[in-house]
Amino acid sequence: MRPKRSGAAHRIARFSLARTMQLAVLTLLLLLGLTVWISMPLLDGIVEKARQTSEEQLPQINRWRHNGERAELLHSYINTLFWTEDPAVSRSTRLQAQVLVHSFAFEADPAIKEQADRVMTSILALLKIRAQQQQIQRTLGDIAQMERQISEQIEPLTNIDAFAAAELYKLNHELIRLSTATASTSIHNSNWGQLAHELRKVDPALSKLSAQLPLQGDTILRYRGLLLQQLIILEQMQTLIAESNAIHAQALSAQQQLSGMLNSDAALKTQQLAERVEKDARQVRSYTFLLLSLFALMVGGLLIGFHLLVLRPILQATHALEQVSRGEPLSKKPARTLFSELNAIAQSVQRYAEMTLELHSTNAELRQLSQIDGLTGLGNRLRFDRALQSEYDRACRHGHALCLILFDLDHFKQINDEHGHLFGDQCLQAFAQLLKQYSQRSGEVSARYGGEEFVLILPEVGLEVAQRIAEQVRSDCTNLELHSEGGATVHLSTSAGLIHLQNARLSSPEALLREADAALYRAKQQGRNRVVTVTNTPGIQLCGEC
Ligand code: GH3
Ligand code: MG
Ligand code: MG
Repeated sequence: MRPKRSGAAHRIARFSLARTMQLAVLTLLLLLGLTVWISMPLLDGIVEKARQTSEEQLPQINRWRHNGERAELLHSYINTLFWTEDPAVSRSTRLQAQVLVHSFAFEADPAIKEQADRVMTSILALLKIRAQQQQIQRTLGDIAQMERQISEQIEPLTNIDAFAAAELYKLNHELIRLSTATASTSIHNSNWGQLAHELRKVDPALSKLSAQLPLQGDTILRYRGLLLQQLIILEQMQTLIAESNAIHAQALSAQQQLSGMLNSDAALKTQQLAERVEKDARQVRSYTFLLLSLFALMVGGLLIGFHLLVLRPILQATHALEQVSRGEPLSKKPARTLFSELNAIAQSVQRYAEMTLELHSTNAELRQLSQIDGLTGLGNRLRFDRALQSEYDRACRHGHALCLILFDLDHFKQINDEHGHLFGDQCLQAFAQLLKQYSQRSGEVSARYGGEEFVLILPEVGLEVAQRIAEQVRSDCTNLELHSEGGATVHLSTSAGLIHLQNARLSSPEALLREADAALYRAKQQGRNRVVTVTNTPGIQLCGEC
């Protein structure tokens, strides 16, 4: 029969475990799909940015690096133009510098081009000064040539004062030396001031000599003129050197500024790129963290839910089954769960427990009934056998006294024959009721041994008490008055065989019974309606003697 489900069960157990598990798997798959759906565009974006970086940013970075190299090249051009005195080198370097500066015209930032133009302006100014200086050097060379011509005219003079002539020769040589030095000195030589100082020292000596040698006055005056011209040019040269140094420094500074602009532009772009990449990485990290947290929460929730809603009810059912198998009643009713399958299991366990308990009690009842005599309600032979074995074991274990009395109704066949079998049954029931009164204490057992034979087990009683009880039963039996259907009053009598052992261990319950039966036989032999007692019978073997 299908068990009825309560309304509460209908209300609570509306979820199927199988369906819920399917739903959980589906949810996880959905979450996985969501993860892919969210992360794919994100990852696509990152791939796109990476592509942009490689296709747009990297060429730009290369250009920045190239710009840096160009700026460094410009620096070396400026230095070459400053230091070289070779016009060919100067010309080619200027051309290269111009080409380089023009290349900055393609930069997106106009400030870079303006700065490059500033550098070129400084370069051109430097070149202009260099041209002036080269012109001065050429003039100095011409003066040196003229001085050498004058010197050739002076050398042959023989008609003059020997001392003055010597002085003139000396000055002549000094002038030629200084002129040659000035004409051949490099622009970058720092001796220009020294040369001017030495030339200035020659002039007073020339003035003094012109007074001593009036005939050579013209020659000396020409010398002086050239000398003064040299001094003016030397001053110009010094001024130009100072100017060229300043312009060189200015060109280098402009070049440094240009380099700085290019570098800062590159640094700014690199920083922007790094910030973009960092932002993307942060975004990916946040999404990953979010999704992982979601996963962890779901898995944690599923595990907790599985434990509470699935595992616990199963464990409770298992525990209940163990209780049932031990024959114990269920300590508590199985709790209702969310899932119908588990509820069905719990209810089955509950029903199984109830049925098992019922079965246990029925078995106990049957066991009880199997040991009861149906006619008299006393214990039957089986009950007696077990009780005798048990009391015998107890008496042996503790050394207690044990008494067994076997009763047999006298001439019972005759009663049956005279008054009928049913009346005989009533007699048996009446005697059973009587015997029952003498087996009220714990351990005392009255039973129907078979037919019209009954037994009484009296543990832990003395011989006298046992004999008195047997005598009392016999006497009560004779006092019973039974009325047959025919209206006759019938009296019963019984014979009894009593065996009593004090503190003795017997060989076996069967021996005990045998001796009681022998005593009963003797009671019958001696005329019936009597009790024959046996104690320390030689036929009984003591346990200690077994
Ligand atoms: P004794 O004094 O020697 O014991 O004589 P007795 O007639 O009692 O001897 P016996 O043991 O031969 O007879 C027992 C009789 O008890 C035989 C049988 O008809 C009767 N009997 C046994 N069981 C039942 C029963 O359940 N109901 C009835 N009414 N009679 C039974
Ligand atoms: Mg008999
Ligand atoms: Mg009899």
